[in-house]
Amino acid sequence: RELPCDPRSDIMPREVLHACYTKVSPSAEVENPELVAWSDSVAKLLDLDPNEFQRPDFPLIFSGALPLLGGLSYAQCYGGHQFGVWAGQLGDGRAITLGEVLNSRGERWELQLKGAGKTPYSRFADGLAVLRSSIREFLCSEAMNGLGIPTTRALCLVTTGKSVSRDMFYDGNSKDEPGAIVCRVAQSFLRIGSFQIHAFRGKEDLDIIHTLADYTIRHHFPHLEKISKSEDISFGAGLEGSSAVDLTSNKYAAWSVEVAERTASLVAGWQGVGFTHGVLNTDNMSVLGLSIDYGPFGFLDAFDPSYTPNTTDLPGRRYCFANQPDVGLWNIAQFTATLSAANLISQEEVNYAMERYGIKFMDEYQSIMTRKLGLSKYNKHLIGKLLNNMAVDKVDYTNFFRLLSNIKADPKTPEDELLIPLKAVLLDIGNERKQAWISWMQTYIEELVSSGIPDEQRKAAMNSVNPKYILRNYLCQTAIDSAEQGDYEEVRRLLKVMENPYDDQPGMEKYARLPPAWAYRPGVCMLSCSS
Ligand code: AMP
Ligand code: MG
Ligand code: MG
Repeated sequence: RELPCDPRSDIMPREVLHACYTKVSPSAEVENPELVAWSDSVAKLLDLDPNEFQRPDFPLIFSGALPLLGGLSYAQCYGGHQFGVWAGQLGDGRAITLGEVLNSRGERWELQLKGAGKTPYSRFADGLAVLRSSIREFLCSEAMNGLGIPTTRALCLVTTGKSVSRDMFYDGNSKDEPGAIVCRVAQSFLRIGSFQIHAFRGKEDLDIIHTLADYTIRHHFPHLEKISKSEDISFGAGLEGSSAVDLTSNKYAAWSVEVAERTASLVAGWQGVGFTHGVLNTDNMSVLGLSIDYGPFGFLDAFDPSYTPNTTDLPGRRYCFANQPDVGLWNIAQFTATLSAANLISQEEVNYAMERYGIKFMDEYQSIMTRKLGLSKYNKHLIGKLLNNMAVDKVDYTNFFRLLSNIKADPKTPEDELLIPLKAVLLDIGNERKQAWISWMQTYIEELVSSGIPDEQRKAAMNSVNPKYILRNYLCQTAIDSAEQGDYEEVRRLLKVMENPYDDQPGMEKYARLPPAWAYRPGVCMLSCSS
């Protein structure tokens, strides 16, 4: 019933039924596209010679104007719960996969252009991306990787040479902005929503969930392949409580636990570095446990549990910093419900995966916070008190932990010297709050003494988990402002700094500074969903 002869039919907005993807080619208009920035470490993953970046046709290929030879391009069909409500079909509305590269180590990497034109999933929108958002996605992908947090990667960023119209504040005033395209790279861009869509379409599509689960396990969880199929077991037989679930008999159950645990450690990693994703809808939740879709994200400056960088998430703050662990579980509940609807896992196995999420998150989170403090064992009271103090006094999350490694484990330190190493982050606390900090510091030093770790050794260990450099929104904005004037040097410099966030980088201290006053204006500290 579609029009195969119409060259535009493959991008006609429509419900794509009984399918996981649609073949579609990039179609963004380009005019003298330019290479803004690229990642040498992603090139390595792809066995791509860094000299290739200098090829004159490189920006043409990575803006989709020239085909990537051997590629088979497509857009994925997926759905999702947006802000807790089922939103139906969403899909790759502006992302087009070019194909997969199998590298010399046998790893499979998918290359995807974001902003390369319309697909059947573009709905009412234009399929394009602006330079501002593309710089943010490019830099944050690589910054997260530098921080050691699982993420989709970014190979390169090119301008299209064409402008794109955007209404940044949804106030009816649109403005023309430079268009750009990021080439994202991941082993897979499959999301929870890629599975959910078929459950919501009714019984006849449940077998697609089965097929897609088999595909995902075969390609991305091959260690689970040897576990026998769900048909071989009788669900729940003889189980006493969810902890009794036997993961050696149903590969889908083992898989759901692995997805739950990867998601839990991903979220714990976010909490550790103060990352707030901003749009944790189920279509933005990777089944590989990767951070995916960098839109209105933000790293904490001053510690604030209710921080959200997303203006679309006000006033509810569903996706604020402190809610991320619960939202991760909510999303895993949608995933396991989908597998259960397709009869791949039992109710006991659903419960077990959810339980594993909670256990894994607490294990990882406690371990991260313990390492951030340089201690050898978890101290709930000490960490709780610290976070409370930080919230009350609006203390910078990143710089506080970085400076904390300078504390000496000396119980004889005079009271009036206790806070000296933290002077730069405790400047604004009033006298009435000083005592709270001094008393916290006294308990902390007692803990340091009892851990018995030598000061220098602890400092090195703490600096390897407490970043000096994070991609604060104001830093992104500075790079964006220059790039919009045609100067891409700041984007490249920021990339280099963020590739090694735990290293002291001489001459780069300004990138560790607190945000200036202008950073708090709308559009810098907060953004809307799909800008
Ligand atoms: P997000 O909130 O970024 O996860 O996007 C939600 C949905 O909107 C996804 O299906 C996106 O592909 C789609 N979308 C976002 N921006 C655009 C755009 N400019 N053109 C087409 N689709 C878009
Ligand atoms: Mg998305
Ligand atoms: Mg997005």
